[in-house]
Amino acid sequence: MNRDFLSIVGELNLAKKVLVVGHIMPDGDDISSVLSATLGLQKLGKEVLAGIDWRIPWYFYEFDETNIIKGYDEVINSGFEPDFMLIVDASSPDRIGRFQESLGKVRTAVVDHHGTNTLFGTLNWVDTRFGSTAQMVLRINTELGVPYDERLATINLMGIATDTGFFRYSNADETVFADATKLVSMGGKAYLVSRIFENKRIEQFKLLSTMEEHIRTENDGQIVYSYLSKEDYESNNCTEDDSGGFVGELRSIQGVELAIFFSEYEKNEVHISFRSKDWFDCSRLAVLLGGGGHPRAAGCTLKGELSVIVEQVIREAKLMFNTQLEAVKNI
Ligand code: AMP
Ligand code: MN
Ligand code: MN
Repeated sequence: MNRDFLSIVGELNLAKKVLVVGHIMPDGDDISSVLSATLGLQKLGKEVLAGIDWRIPWYFYEFDETNIIKGYDEVINSGFEPDFMLIVDASSPDRIGRFQESLGKVRTAVVDHHGTNTLFGTLNWVDTRFGSTAQMVLRINTELGVPYDERLATINLMGIATDTGFFRYSNADETVFADATKLVSMGGKAYLVSRIFENKRIEQFKLLSTMEEHIRTENDGQIVYSYLSKEDYESNNCTEDDSGGFVGELRSIQGVELAIFFSEYEKNEVHISFRSKDWFDCSRLAVLLGGGGHPRAAGCTLKGELSVIVEQVIREAKLMFNTQLEAVKNI
């Protein structure tokens, strides 16, 4: 077994007060990992607080347990003094928002599956072979002897399902299916996980159609991109939470290798999502632009005027696309 994994389990065993922290712009794997670790440690009788320095998309509240996750101010104002901090699914200090102020003040473990992880904890268990961080939390909980019930199993399953696109992406390997099977055998319900995403507001379909109107292609349709401005969200009575999954729609287009979606979540603040199908390494493009992620799914955040950002990023994307294409051809 990995040395850092064993050290983290050892320290969690001894810890009495644990703060579990997820990343900004949380996704399903992050929420699942935060909740699974928090509920697991609570079941062992520890005092545990869960914190994420970002608003949590409304559809995750389909699981009541999401309500236990506190914002940064709430955690600080509670006066909670953890003896251990567990950070999940975050690849660098900026990804935990203001919680980075606690780094260096309390012993910290980073548990993550991003190749772009900067190893910023006291202990770092980072393994890119896992399709989701939720699988790593499952191993920690199992080693700690956490008893699983139907709720915990379903919540833990949610992270595996979402980070693998419901078992469709190339990271859906044997371990993913084995872990999902284990969680289902402990009471996990896949149909309850899919409820989170089968609970759409009509406005989201209108937002999708606005996004579709903005679709552009490059490189004979191998690169596809689209955007939503702050005004697009407002005129459709939506927020950026409502466009989760849109980049996946772009990638699903025939002939596309690289899909890019620009989301202006605040005026002049743009989150960019990159997804690829077979060979393009999105994480290299995201790192170049100050972000990170995985080979087939990565992201970054840039400040500035949306149209300027779109133009600059597409220029960089085309350059890197052609460079990587040459390298692939030469193999
Ligand atoms: P997203 O496009 O936001 O769904 O993110 C895709 C993947 O890239 C996820 O694994 C994220 O954790 C990662 N990611 C997104 N944005 C950033 C960022 N600014 N820095 C590092 N990793 C990111
Ligand atoms: Mn994540
Ligand atoms: Mn993840």
